[in-house]
Amino acid sequence: MITIKKPEQFERMARAGLAVAAVHRAVRRAAKPGVTTHQLDTIAAEVLKEHGCVPSFLNYHGFPATICTSPNDVIVHGIPNDVPLEEGDVLSVDAGAIFERYHADAAITFGVGVVAPEVRQLIDSTEEAMWAGIKAVEPGARIGDIGAAVQAVGDRHGYGIVQEYVGHGIGLNMHEKPNVPNFGRAGSGMKLREGMAICIEPMFNLGTHETFVEEDQWTVRTADGSMSAHWEHTVALTPDGVRVLTAQPELQADLWGTG
Ligand code: MG
Repeated sequence: MITIKKPEQFERMARAGLAVAAVHRAVRRAAKPGVTTHQLDTIAAEVLKEHGCVPSFLNYHGFPATICTSPNDVIVHGIPNDVPLEEGDVLSVDAGAIFERYHADAAITFGVGVVAPEVRQLIDSTEEAMWAGIKAVEPGARIGDIGAAVQAVGDRHGYGIVQEYVGHGIGLNMHEKPNVPNFGRAGSGMKLREGMAICIEPMFNLGTHETFVEEDQWTVRTADGSMSAHWEHTVALTPDGVRVLTAQPELQADLWGTG
C-alpha cells in the first residue's frame, strides 16, 4: 500500500482514471448484438493508447487481453473471445490503465439491448451498492464501513454477495493492501486516511454467492448459473477531498464541483 503525498502523483492516477472512463464509454457504445468481445478488446487497446496509457491487465499473471469481458453468469475475469454478443446478454467490462507508473481500475455492467426486468434491477442495485460504498469513504472511516454499506444494498434485494473476490488498494500496483470486502461490520477494519486510493467493487449474483473457476483458470462463474453484475471505481482520499478517479468527466464535475 502506498501513501500518495504529492499532487502530481494523484494527477497521474487521475489521468489513468480518465483513460479507463474513456474505455468504458467506447466499449459500451460498441457493444451491440453481433459484435464480439474480442472486437471490444481491440477498441479498448486503441483508446488506452490514445490516452498515453498502458493496460494494467495485459500479461498480469499471464492474462491475455486488455480488458476482462464477463457475460451473463460470468462474475469476473472473463477473457475476450469470438462469440458474438446477443440481444439480452449482460456484459461486465473491467478495465485498468497505467499512466506514468500509476494505476486506475474500474468496471461497469450493462445490458446488450433489452434485458429481463430482474436482471435490470440486479445491474442497477449493484451500481447503487458501489456508490453506497463510495459514500462511506472519508478520512477516519474504516474498511468495514464500506463493506457494511455495500452489503446492506445486496441483502435488501436478497442477492448472493460474492466473497472470494474483493476490492483492494491501488497505486503503483493494481492490487495493493488493504482488501476491501463487499461485506462487513461498520466500525471494524483498517482506518482510511488521506493519501490512500482504493477500488470498491461489489459483485452481486441473482442466485447464491457461490462461485467456480473454469479450466482456463481465469473465468469465474456463478456456481448455480445465475446472472451476475459487477461495478467498480477507483477512489482517492486527496487533500481536496474524496475523488472518484474513474468516473466519467461530466460526472466528476458533479461529484466535486470542478470542470
Ligand atoms: Mg479491481
